[in-house]
Amino acid sequence: MADSHETLVDGNFLAAKCLGRCGVTHMFGVVGIPVTSLANRAVSLGIRFLAFHNEQSAGYAASAYGYLTGRPGLLLTVSGPGCVHGLAGLSNAMANTWPMVMISGSCDQNDAGHGDFQELDQIETVKPFSKFSVKARNIKDIPNCIVQVLDRAGSGRPGGCYLDLPSDVLHQGVTELEAERLISTALSSSKWSESGNVIGSSEIERAVELLRNAERPLIVFGKGAAYARAEDEIRKFVERTGIPFLPTPMGKGLLPDSHELAASAARSLAIGKCDVALVVGARLNWLLHFGEPPKWSKDVKFILVDVCKDEIELRKPHLGLVGDAKRVLELLNKEIKEDPFCLGKSHPWVEAISKKVKENVSRMEVQLSKDVVPFNFLTPMRIIRDAILGLGGPAPVVVSEGANTMDVGRAVLVQTEARTRLDAGTWGTMGVGLGYCVAAAVAEPGRLVIAVEGDSGFGFSAMEVETLVRYQLPVVVIVFNNGGVYGGDRRGPEEITGPFKDDPAPTSFVPGAAYHTLIEAFGGKGYLVETPYELKYALTESFSSRKPSVINVIIDPYAGAESGRLQHKN
Ligand code: ADP
Repeated sequence: MADSHETLVDGNFLAAKCLGRCGVTHMFGVVGIPVTSLANRAVSLGIRFLAFHNEQSAGYAASAYGYLTGRPGLLLTVSGPGCVHGLAGLSNAMANTWPMVMISGSCDQNDAGHGDFQELDQIETVKPFSKFSVKARNIKDIPNCIVQVLDRAGSGRPGGCYLDLPSDVLHQGVTELEAERLISTALSSSKWSESGNVIGSSEIERAVELLRNAERPLIVFGKGAAYARAEDEIRKFVERTGIPFLPTPMGKGLLPDSHELAASAARSLAIGKCDVALVVGARLNWLLHFGEPPKWSKDVKFILVDVCKDEIELRKPHLGLVGDAKRVLELLNKEIKEDPFCLGKSHPWVEAISKKVKENVSRMEVQLSKDVVPFNFLTPMRIIRDAILGLGGPAPVVVSEGANTMDVGRAVLVQTEARTRLDAGTWGTMGVGLGYCVAAAVAEPGRLVIAVEGDSGFGFSAMEVETLVRYQLPVVVIVFNNGGVYGGDRRGPEEITGPFKDDPAPTSFVPGAAYHTLIEAFGGKGYLVETPYELKYALTESFSSRKPSVINVIIDPYAGAESGRLQHKN
């Protein structure tokens, strides 16, 4: 009888085994030719495979998983069209700077160039959307390729990497002994890392001096700081210096929104008047008005902290600190401890921000306190906020997308813990919701996941409610149903002309769609709500059951604005 070490294993087995040895515990994807066996092998070796309906959603899930866990999220796709669909996730990971690896099967190398089944030059296709890509041309390449893509995805500025596994390579064989040797050699090869920058103590001193001498300092932090798990250092820094802070949308929760130095409700004042801004793990892109007038003062001095040197060179700040956010903040905290300063509550800048926050919050509360029926956006959002605040235990992960739904949600929903908000992000990617829900549910097993979605955002991947039910994930999807993209037909009479004038508006969907029945088709729980009482009931029941649910909230189709808060761009 042959020694077990002489038993042949194929590329599927070798790839699955190597992924497991690299610490991969979850994969997201859609199976089919030629990767079904790879998924099955992975499951048999203890990796959880979350099977989706569409690679786009699975890719979004993999990207968010990378952000939430700090380890690359894995997407597995079939060849050709599967790879193309997966680009949605890969590009989303790149845009948000999240670690992710897409693995696609590809056609037999011997048939390439002759019009093979699902043939595509996938390496060329993924190039604009990935930081590194590689093809295993022989079974013996597989372990090395896997180690490389995983390392590169998480090194330096995180991003998306791609591994191509041709079908002939997946069917080649090596002995078990050889497989073990190949994996061990690949794992022992030195970990690839982008040259780490060592921050000089003089740069740290300069940063602290700038903040110490500022009249109106501000701290801005974003999802790069959340990714770096810098929350404890940020808290120390804010509390030691007494400087007001402003989180970006996904930076929300690094410090609680209710913190007395939170300047979110006085955003225009904070960014318009600050003279020195310490920006940690957030790009000065459209979300932060490019750091330019008229939103920012023309004399503001930026101190940028980013792991990516190119990012700092692009923005040309007054001072750039290249490094991991947590590490840089540790150094800043150390420097301040030796020579402390703290603005204090009676500092004119702190007082001005705090006064503006109180005014804006009480103005908003007046609007929020009204029970408007048919629902506008504010009334249901307040009810959802209060239901979330009433939950015990760890804060839920809130997933949010849609124009008005996301804008209103960002202002109203309260975030108290880091990495508990996932939204359309840097790219304004709509359709991420259900994928993000699956990722959050498996990455953060103790937390409830609550998606607050516009009906349009939900529609991109609504079939994935079946995925929620299949895996029995603790996800409650709340759909703000106003019957379309931005809501009802907002066209003026001059726009309703031509041979197709009787068609529904390009912005509108079937009014009053019964989205709650979608999940019921698979055995999940659906709720249709039109009043505050019905919404409160549905939230109480679904939050406590922690079972997959969809709450279909009917909203006045004329509430909210076209393009939300970005009307100038449409
Ligand atoms: P936001 O959307 O919250 O404004 P961005 O995605 O624009 O945030 O910016 C995140 C930034 O954080 C990116 O420029 C990225 O290079 C950076 N980043 C990623 N990881 C780290 C880290 N560990 N430390 C510091 N910066 C990081």
